Amino acid sequence: MLTYQAKPLFSDKNLRIPVEAKWELSELSELSDGLSSYPVLEPLTVSGVLFNPGPDANGKERICFDGTARTVLQMSCDRCLERVDVSLETPVNASFVRQNGVETEITFDNMDEVPLEGDEIPLEEVILSDVSLSIPMKVLCKEDCKGLCPVCGKDLNFGACDCEEDNLDPRWDALKSLF
Ligand SMILES: [Zn+2]
Ligand SMILES: [Zn+2]
Repeated sequence: MLTYQAKPLFSDKNLRIPVEAKWELSELSELSDGLSSYPVLEPLTVSGVLFNPGPDANGKERICFDGTARTVLQMSCDRCLERVDVSLETPVNASFVRQNGVETEITFDNMDEVPLEGDEIPLEEVILSDVSLSIPMKVLCKEDCKGLCPVCGKDLNFGACDCEEDNLDPRWDALKSLF
């Protein structure tokens, strides 16, 4: 879908290619953070620019992308499991580096560098991977969500339950009897 050739950018330093793209829900209906998948509620859009900043200090030729990806994911509150719609706005920055037959060792300084194998810039891959990495590990329906009672499972946001306050999860009793 997002196909851009590196050659014109390498040969013209003043060239800036605007990138505007949208993944319809039929093309991208869920996103995964590696552990769970979340339904995508609004089409993922990306807007940015591809440009050639000139060779770096080591004379390495590169093409940069600077942009922002946006979408809305359906997640669940970490405490009460209520549905939470999360708006993501992810900065996407990448440096595509021409290999010239030399393998580059990945260090902390060049983590954003993506080796350019052929002439095609793997922009789509980079965008989707950055968005996946930006999915929050935990979300709450509200800052002070009271969560579920560990004993009876009642949603405590809708009022207290009848469980004793110091009544721990009965599974702990089984554990305690081991000591
Ligand atoms: Zn909650
Ligand atoms: Zn309870």
